[in-house]
Amino acid sequence: MANTPIYLDYNATSPLRPEVITLLTSKLQDVGNPSSIHAYGRKVRKEVEQAREQIAKLIQCDAVDIVFTSGATEANNAVIFGAPVTRILYSAIEHPSVTDAAIQKNSFVIPVLKNGTLDLVALESLLQQSDEPTLVSVMWVNNETGVIQPIEDIVRIAKQYNALVHCDAVQAAGRLPIRMNDLGIDYLTLSAHKIGGPSGIGALVYNQQTQLAKFIHGGGQERRRRAGTENTLGALGFGKAAEMAANEAQHIQKLVEWRDTLENEMQKAIPKVEFIGRDAPRVANTIQLILPSVPAETQLMALDLDGIAVSSGSACSSGSIKPSHVLLAMGVSEAKAKCAIRVSMGFGTTAEDIKYFLTRWVTNSQRFTKS
Ligand code: PMP
Repeated sequence: MANTPIYLDYNATSPLRPEVITLLTSKLQDVGNPSSIHAYGRKVRKEVEQAREQIAKLIQCDAVDIVFTSGATEANNAVIFGAPVTRILYSAIEHPSVTDAAIQKNSFVIPVLKNGTLDLVALESLLQQSDEPTLVSVMWVNNETGVIQPIEDIVRIAKQYNALVHCDAVQAAGRLPIRMNDLGIDYLTLSAHKIGGPSGIGALVYNQQTQLAKFIHGGGQERRRRAGTENTLGALGFGKAAEMAANEAQHIQKLVEWRDTLENEMQKAIPKVEFIGRDAPRVANTIQLILPSVPAETQLMALDLDGIAVSSGSACSSGSIKPSHVLLAMGVSEAKAKCAIRVSMGFGTTAEDIKYFLTRWVTNSQRFTKS
């Protein structure tokens, strides 16, 4: 039997990587404000800048373009409220940290197709409707389904209409290659706790020539772009996590195999199970499935009793029984959307975890679907 509990909820948050724990533990007694010019300050400054370099390497950007924030929620808010535009187009499947900000502005929703990818025709037609300065905000990878957006096409179309592009890359970082400098994305946002770093630290990445109104006012930190004494331990942990995530191609290949085997075996055992976004490009770590007529909470509780942690819909709205806006946008019925669970793997997932999950899921699902 596998070692329970088994954590399969990496899209909600990932465990701290062992290398991050070792690094942070060794730094806990250090003192120094990176803005101080004495030796203590200079040492911490050097370490923070090294962390910036590690993150820059993961997403192929210039380190000076990275602004540390308190997380992706702050970074997304900063873009939505601070971009020099009068109109925002955002996808129907964005995270609430984009949608709840965008609805306070002059904004319009770009629909997605049934497979969960952006409707590019609708994007172009929305862009054509006005020549106001516009921001297009589309996430790279959806946190609930793992579906990958055609980001190159989105940037190409947006640029034809001189629109700025924001990409929430929280669930893409470490899961697929990102070449920020080659892409033409104006603003990109990240979160450390999805890649094995600490929570409460993220990044907003944008070129210094790109305009963005200041979101947090105060001191001159982060090249005057984000005030407040840096979260130094957070930044160091983020940097280490990024370094580890940049060297994980082999494990990601394993995740592809496990995901495909899992889905095939699950389908064989319970033919009526449905996998969301299966015919779209998806990241390897995420499976979203619907077991029709079995509420997500029932499935979750049974797995929880077996020592397995998964999630229903997106973690940010867990605890609420509202069907996922992402599934509804993909044309899934409310009744079915309430029966969706998400299994998300990560750097610590093992073959034994997957085997145990499969056994328990099949046993539970046979019981639920018998009557
Ligand atoms: N965007 C996406 C796609 C996410 O999955 C999350 C985390 N649930 C966020 C933004 C918010 O990130 P943070 O927790 O760092 O504020």
